[in-house]
Amino acid sequence: SESGSNCYRVVLIGEHGVGKSSLANIFAGVHDSIDSDCEVLGEDTYERTLMVDGESATIILLDMWDNKREGEWIRDHCMQVGDAYLIVYSITDRASFEKASELRIQLRRARQKEDIPIILVGNKSDLVRCREVSVAEGRACAVVFDCKFIETSAAVQHNVKELFEGIVRQVRLRRDSK
Ligand code: GDP
Ligand code: MG
Repeated sequence: SESGSNCYRVVLIGEHGVGKSSLANIFAGVHDSIDSDCEVLGEDTYERTLMVDGESATIILLDMWDNKREGEWIRDHCMQVGDAYLIVYSITDRASFEKASELRIQLRRARQKEDIPIILVGNKSDLVRCREVSVAEGRACAVVFDCKFIETSAAVQHNVKELFEGIVRQVRLRRDSK
């Protein structure tokens, strides 16, 4: 794995069942990356190098938010170790959307002085007839929380590649403005 400024630890957080692991599994299987094999560093950690805007970036993706076996400390750990965060909710589950707001506040509290790149992710966009959270609401929430917004579908693999490219761009924007 690479070290230094091109390697980013990205953490998936959000209510159980919203699709975090499904997104992680797609990430693990993305085809058009430099190294064709995704390295599985543990049962819930994945590493992959992507080419984004002509520059390679290595993402270490952590999907351990729902890991009950390790106890509550894992969530504190997750809040501390990310270079960037994907806060995921399901567009079919309003409670998960409200939870996403809570997590944004918790994250801000945990990392007060840092400008951490975050993407608010409305997953399950394929389930149009079960939608409980509109695109406009998702977008408005992201504006309030000063982060990016995207709707994805892990089921039909819509916008998933764009999601991971997007988080790399967000990290770079902050790096380049320093
Ligand atoms: P996690 O608990 O956040 O890791 O969620 P999972 O990835 O385990 O997904 C929970 C359930 O939602 C599973 O049955 C998935 O197949 C389903 N799921 C995940 N993403 C999508 C999606 O984009 N669309 C649909 N229709 N189902 C999804
Ligand atoms: Mg999971």
